[in-house]
Amino acid sequence: MLESVRIRLTLWYVGVLALVLVVLAFATYLILRESTVKRADSNLAELADGFLTTLQAETKDESGPDALKRGALQAIAEHRFRDYFYAVLDSTDAVVVSSRDLPSVTPTASPEESYRILDSDFLRKLVQSSSRSDRVFQNLRGERGGYRGYVRPFAENGQTYTLVVLQSLHPQKEMYGYFLARKSLAPVVAMSTQAGRIGAATLHERLPVQNEKDELGHLARSFNHLLDRLDQSFDRQRRFMADASHELRTPVAILRGEAEVALARPDRTPEEYRESLAVLRAESQRLTHIVEDLFTLARADAGQYPLSPHDFYLDELVADCTHTTRTLALAKRITLNCDAAQELPIHADEALLRRMILNLLDNAIKYTPEGGSVSVACRREGGEYALSIADTGPGIPVELQPHIFERFFRADKARTHAESDGGGAGLGLSIARWIAEAHHGRLELARSDATGSTFAAYLPAKSAVSAVAVR
Ligand code: ADP
Repeated sequence: MLESVRIRLTLWYVGVLALVLVVLAFATYLILRESTVKRADSNLAELADGFLTTLQAETKDESGPDALKRGALQAIAEHRFRDYFYAVLDSTDAVVVSSRDLPSVTPTASPEESYRILDSDFLRKLVQSSSRSDRVFQNLRGERGGYRGYVRPFAENGQTYTLVVLQSLHPQKEMYGYFLARKSLAPVVAMSTQAGRIGAATLHERLPVQNEKDELGHLARSFNHLLDRLDQSFDRQRRFMADASHELRTPVAILRGEAEVALARPDRTPEEYRESLAVLRAESQRLTHIVEDLFTLARADAGQYPLSPHDFYLDELVADCTHTTRTLALAKRITLNCDAAQELPIHADEALLRRMILNLLDNAIKYTPEGGSVSVACRREGGEYALSIADTGPGIPVELQPHIFERFFRADKARTHAESDGGGAGLGLSIARWIAEAHHGRLELARSDATGSTFAAYLPAKSAVSAVAVR
């Protein structure tokens, strides 16, 4: 009951509001039309005044049967405006002269084209109906919106004539439509103008949102969000390029410097040459490594890194990686433990997972002082596999922890590249994290303090890995 009253009330409100809006729109339209018609009429009267003044001036000193015709033609030529038509008729309502008698200046059809219907018959009827009804202004049907006509009798040399001035209503009709369309499309025009201005260099600019709540506002906001994402992505790309070229410059400079030193003195011993070549090899290996990492990240960013997933055992891969890094650990007298006893079948890209585990193991060994220990563990935890790599290194300062997965981030920037610890470009952890995410998993720093750090990777045990890793 209450519901139906409420619904009826709402319907009434909506109905009344709609009616008010329609009446308002109609009244606006009428007022607009009325004012344009008034303006057009006074314009026509003014034109007629001007026309007659010119005509009188032209015929003042002239006489003869053609004097009026020549003067009128001159007046038509002088008052010739686009969309206006003049005709002078004599007392028998025969056309003496009209705009048609004037050679067309413009080869384009309009408005001369529409003069076609304005023949003597048409003009005669107009003048007759005007004198009958005493209406000097009239609306006339015709092509392209019709005409507004003004009929004015005048005397010249004792004879009565009638001047007819016609204005094509086509531009006004167009204007109404244009006005209405323009009003509602104004925000779209503003948006597209602004959108056209936004380029790679001005990606921080945004579209104007005139009304948050309507569809256009929604469109503008969606577009702005798109620009936000593009802007961020451009920014990342720019930073990536700048950092990458910076990282590549150093090893290239070392390579060139070492080669120049080796070539500078002719009397070098074979041992010295071997030493130089060893440096060149180590540095070019490092360079290759960085280039490969950059290539991986660039392809990952473009969502174009093809994954080749297959079935294998994660525990075996973990054991294999630990075995591979054994010599590195041994060189630093680091104890390396591996606890991956269970059988852990997985469907994943083995080469990429190997790279992730080796990156983590390399870091653990690299940052742990001599005599420390590194422990790798892998087990099933619910629907996922948890892989942890713990070391007894110095830990990562708390304020730097949020940044270690960023590209090119190195906690100890002062460490030189040529050092024997093989300091990387700060890309290892970004790549490792991307690999985990490409497998719908994650990589985190689980713990880091003065007693050491633990990195933990979680991978879905039953992952539906797609063929292309998309970030
Ligand atoms: P890098 O090539 O410098 O090793 P990574 O992306 O692998 O680059 O690591 C980024 C930074 O994180 C390193 O420079 C280091 O400061 C810190 N880090 C990574 N792993 C460890 C760890 N096991 N112990 C201490 N610090 C670490």
